[in-house]
Amino acid sequence: MTAKFSESDCQPVSLSSASEDDATWTHLVQSSVPGLGFLFEVTGKPWTAWVGVLGLVFAATIAGLLGFGGGMHHKYENENGNYNYYADFLGRSGTTASTSGSSNNCPSSAAATEIIAPDTFYSHSPSACTSSSLTSTCANPLNILSASSLSSSPAGMIMAAPSPSLDAALRVAREFDLPSDQAQRGVDEFLSQMAEGLAKNGTTLSQIPTYVTSVPNGTEKGLYLAVDLGGTNFRVCSINLKGDSTFDLTQNKVAIPRDMMVAPSYKQLFKFLATQIEAFLEEHHNEHFEATVRRRRLTGTTDQYRREEIFDLGFTFSFPVHQTSINRGTLIRWTKGFDIPDAVGKDVCLMLQDAINELHLPVRVAALVNDTVGTLMARSYTSPGKTETLLGAIFGTGTNGAYVEKLDKVTKLDVKNDRTIDHTKNQMVINTEWGSFDNHLSVLPNTIYDQQLDAESVNPGIQMFEKRVSGMFLGEILRRAVLALTKDSEAKLLQTEGNLIPSDSPLYEIWGIDTSFLSIIEADTTSDLTATKAALFEHFKVSNATTDDAQAIKAIGHAIAKRAARLSGIALAAILLDTKRIDTDETVDIGVDGSLVEFYPKFVDYMREAMREIKGIGEKESKVRIGIAKDGSGVGAALIALVAHKEYAIGQR
Ligand code: ADP
Ligand code: MG
Repeated sequence: MTAKFSESDCQPVSLSSASEDDATWTHLVQSSVPGLGFLFEVTGKPWTAWVGVLGLVFAATIAGLLGFGGGMHHKYENENGNYNYYADFLGRSGTTASTSGSSNNCPSSAAATEIIAPDTFYSHSPSACTSSSLTSTCANPLNILSASSLSSSPAGMIMAAPSPSLDAALRVAREFDLPSDQAQRGVDEFLSQMAEGLAKNGTTLSQIPTYVTSVPNGTEKGLYLAVDLGGTNFRVCSINLKGDSTFDLTQNKVAIPRDMMVAPSYKQLFKFLATQIEAFLEEHHNEHFEATVRRRRLTGTTDQYRREEIFDLGFTFSFPVHQTSINRGTLIRWTKGFDIPDAVGKDVCLMLQDAINELHLPVRVAALVNDTVGTLMARSYTSPGKTETLLGAIFGTGTNGAYVEKLDKVTKLDVKNDRTIDHTKNQMVINTEWGSFDNHLSVLPNTIYDQQLDAESVNPGIQMFEKRVSGMFLGEILRRAVLALTKDSEAKLLQTEGNLIPSDSPLYEIWGIDTSFLSIIEADTTSDLTATKAALFEHFKVSNATTDDAQAIKAIGHAIAKRAARLSGIALAAILLDTKRIDTDETVDIGVDGSLVEFYPKFVDYMREAMREIKGIGEKESKVRIGIAKDGSGVGAALIALVAHKEYAIGQR
């Protein structure tokens, strides 16, 4: 018997002192102990249920004393060894816990944290309350449910015995647990793959040298163009660096048409990009545009532009590239759903420069920039104080990180004899391409949903870390897990009241569910999951989903995203340990960018939580300062174009 709860279900409860609280209590009894609910329903007399309650309380107390109390509790152990109870009808521990968390202060113990929070069955450790520059868990009152809202709202439902769909969902959710020891093995493996990547080419972690040997300090100045081919969108911007850690940025953003992402030839895509640059110049720098392009087109001149007429452009290209200088690099492979075979092995700057030249635009592709390197540069320019940023990390459509490495550790380069490399600071920014970390799956988790997704992706066996972490994939993992439970004859997810799923639901389409759905449901703290139900309608075209269904889907979504954040923590921890900066520096600055890290609630908190579990980091995690590098790829690209411009000017002398 599945317990259901609505206002009307409470109506028959007419004990003289019956309050809403009592109604909830009765409901909890009913739903926690189906037999009692049955008794109540058969007799229609609440006192029968209460007699049953008293009997059970007595029996359970005896059983508890004898050590057999387990049957009354539903206890889940999470990866931190904390226990979360969700159906402790005897102790009403939820009320106790909520009282301790009813202010906006950090709950005093992990056990008291979020046991009864409406949004989750999982607790998180109290140190997640450590503030970061991005988020502060404690500042979010939604994490803590007040005692009054517990007793008077159907939030108590969460304490009820789960329906088959919820029960099955919780089982699936646990498949996404990433325990501490697995995280530790992940870091060990990451460190060894990092070292291997610095020593030779063709390794799992590419560790690509970027030829960027310094990071900015905020005093840089000038007007630059930047374009960003990130995965989902194409951005064109102009950036005015003011030299005081601030900048003005003007941008246009356009979605990349899918038929250009998967095509036989690169020409169409790059022509599209150049056309966007042209439109941008016409719109935002018309004076300059008029003075150069129109004149040249009218007169048909083929002369070179004068240097001062040319915009230096930083080209942020967020795909694996074999870079050979600051503005030269060949595409190694496409990722993130792109597949244009004839571009592989070609120089991406030349492909763009050719398309720009065809439109006679006064633009020089001055620097090839990975968005992750751009994020690092932008964060370093804008970050407070003198601290130079160690790492830039992206969690958007894809995921990747770039960090400052000791130059003499980059043994695959002939550093000593390469005169194009500036040796003064003995450092170089390395683009890890960590999306392909552990492609051979020696430590990464691999659920059936991960396996299915990989098998049906355009690049099976590749970008295995990214496929468990980034925005492009999390929605799809969830879709697969939900789909499986809708077909499961016991779980009957979204089937409890007849099939609620229309045949044209995105649930049936590969890539049908966007990762933003996970953020919406995670942020939903309403007691009956109103926002989740609305999102189910918007994203799945499912109307009339039950609260149990919503709860089930929320639990899986939460687990998928939490695993992603904890996996991300592995990468960050490894870089902190490799560079030893966690030991040597007072503050270690990290810049992050991408919709997932920006919008998914608590992504950074879960990432930090995983880092603290790693040997050699622990409490030192509090030295890490994480900040969003807003418009990182644009500003960062401008900063690298600036560096390249200086080098170019020196070369021209
Ligand atoms: P890009 O990767 O092109 O630079 P973004 O950083 O905006 O662009 O990342 C886009 C990815 O982020 C998409 O995969 C999308 O599903 C995901 N995404 C967009 N909005 C959200 C959100 N609110 N929460 C989580 N993921 C999101
Ligand atoms: Mg991006």
